[in-house]
Amino acid sequence: MSRLGHTPDWSRRKFLTASTAGLAGLAIPVRSASARYDPPVHPQFQRLSQNLGLLRGTIHVGVVFNGNEALLIDCGDVGTFEWAAAAGIKVNKVLVTHHHREQVMGLLSEETNAEVLVSAAEEKYFTDVAQYWLAPSSRWHIYNQRPHHWMLPQSVKVAGVLKGGESLTWGSATIKVLETPGHTDGSVSFLVAVDGLRVVFCGDLLYGPGQVPDLYCLQKGLHRGQRRTSDYHGFLGARETVKESLHRVLGQQPDLVVTSAGGVIEKPEVGLQLLIERLDSLYDTYVSTSALRHYFPELFEEFQGRADHLPFRPQLAPPAYLRHIGTSWIIRSQDGAAFVMDCGSPRVIEALEKMITAGEITRVEGLWITHYHDDHVDAVPQFLEKFACPCYTVRPVAEVITRPMAWRLPCISPSVVRVDRVLADGEFFSWHEFRMTPFDFPGQTLYHGALFAENATDKLLFVGDSFTPAGIDDYCIQNRNFLHDGSGFLRCLDLISQLKPTHMFNCHVDSAFTFRPEDCQAIKERLQHRRELLKAILPWRDFHFGIDEFWVRCDPYEQTASPGGKVILDLVILNHLTEALDVHVRVVPPASWSGERLPSALRSWQDWQQVSIAGRKEGRISQEIFVPKSTAPGRYVVMVDIAIPGETPSPRILCGVTEAVIVIQDVSTKTLFHNRPSPVRRERGRG
Ligand SMILES: [Zn+2]
Ligand SMILES: [Zn+2]
Repeated sequence: MSRLGHTPDWSRRKFLTASTAGLAGLAIPVRSASARYDPPVHPQFQRLSQNLGLLRGTIHVGVVFNGNEALLIDCGDVGTFEWAAAAGIKVNKVLVTHHHREQVMGLLSEETNAEVLVSAAEEKYFTDVAQYWLAPSSRWHIYNQRPHHWMLPQSVKVAGVLKGGESLTWGSATIKVLETPGHTDGSVSFLVAVDGLRVVFCGDLLYGPGQVPDLYCLQKGLHRGQRRTSDYHGFLGARETVKESLHRVLGQQPDLVVTSAGGVIEKPEVGLQLLIERLDSLYDTYVSTSALRHYFPELFEEFQGRADHLPFRPQLAPPAYLRHIGTSWIIRSQDGAAFVMDCGSPRVIEALEKMITAGEITRVEGLWITHYHDDHVDAVPQFLEKFACPCYTVRPVAEVITRPMAWRLPCISPSVVRVDRVLADGEFFSWHEFRMTPFDFPGQTLYHGALFAENATDKLLFVGDSFTPAGIDDYCIQNRNFLHDGSGFLRCLDLISQLKPTHMFNCHVDSAFTFRPEDCQAIKERLQHRRELLKAILPWRDFHFGIDEFWVRCDPYEQTASPGGKVILDLVILNHLTEALDVHVRVVPPASWSGERLPSALRSWQDWQQVSIAGRKEGRISQEIFVPKSTAPGRYVVMVDIAIPGETPSPRILCGVTEAVIVIQDVSTKTLFHNRPSPVRRERGRG
């Protein structure tokens, strides 16, 4: 194989002209092409140099040639192997940047003899995915978002592992492994030096210049000294790691950087530096209003004293008729009745029984649920059995807590809660001397309510976990904090401005506090600024697609079925655009169920089920899935592929964007597999 070095007619300028021309099977000028392998022109194939190319499929796949054999960097779906077969290319090796299933979907159905090499740190996420899917911590009480759940549904064969600093030779190319964690903890990039060109294939470390594909993959626990938080408390927690990885890539002085979803970055120096700046700005604006500063001030020392950050609100003494136990607030009426909010632990029940015995309260008359998190609902079934009182909440909360199997969300509890009265937003009721008004309150989570309790002297607003004296609780992106006009915290802040509470209460904070209309306005201004930063850093028509991990979800998330039976699965799609969203979707059952190999996404997406969802609305599509008679008991993962024609590139295809779990029961014993809740593991006393 001859090798193309830096020749007089090979210039950066010529290359750039060629590569920006798009998808047209381009070639740079080649001098000594005698032994060069020319795959047939294909609209999705772009040649970067004599021995290096890029196949644009469901993701961008790097192709390094050695004659008519190829080494691939990631492989995307089965379309890559179809392209190789049609072009007479033998795929010899597949090097994988990270464990997300969209990187290697093709390995599930393709009988390939290619050697698959993966990051040593992520090997088990390829070879032993059952460990992930069977772990109770992947299903209930989710406080860690890493490893991320875009895990392969079945294991694949791996020939070996790669570590940072290792090099391999392939034809005339040298390929160096760079550790570039961030998007996932064990992500690697590959520096391909060939034909006088240095190209880094970096997976999803970034998307395009100054952009990341999404922010939910950057949720990661914070640590400083001895202090370590779960991933739950780490909004943008991976940003320092991402920055280090970007510097590591730049340190290789690449001519080009190629990303899995965004494609070729032609001025790495500029594009990667821009991302570093944007991550810092975004984190700064997040910290400036963050409730987490109240819980973990030591993690934000470098921001202390910043005049442009929201000052902490003073803490106030709660009125004497309130009690705070665990995460529960208790209102005692003048005649001794108790109204309780949340019940995360049996200790709350014990404490109430003691209060009754001591004559502090006479009886428990009602239970209000602020939100679905486990530390607020785990012991509700026992509570309702003990005190036989009605349970109230708003609709968004009831939808989760009455059928938790239907959801996979952070901190979700397997406790099934009986809700006696679902209260409409603003539908007040009287309780003794109090007028109680519930509100939909999409603060800490989308599934959150607030209760406004007024008596002759006080206006108390119980905000669940949504605010602390330091600001707003938006530190777990998987909680779905939206920033549309009138939604999310923007709605909560408007409500507080209108209600003007004398006291606000958080379930994890003993003292009261308030936010005045001017404080709410100050937060809103920072959120408006954050919207601008999010628009810049996320490559979507509406940035919410990059902050809402569950904009496509399956309902129910988990259900049981019998061999030979069928299941109905609804795909629920939230359109964040103001205009209609057209999407094409298909459900991908386990390979052993379908019998035939699914066609590649690019070849078939127009045949998938098509749906148009009105602006800012949720759409639902029902799918039937048949379970073959021969299916053994166990947990099975059904994936969903989606194609969005209106995004760039069009269509943007997301393979395995979400999943559902089907539990096949052992008919003889009716045992459910690994569906038991895990013990609560959480930072006690923090929201
Ligand atoms: Zn990824
Ligand atoms: Zn909470």
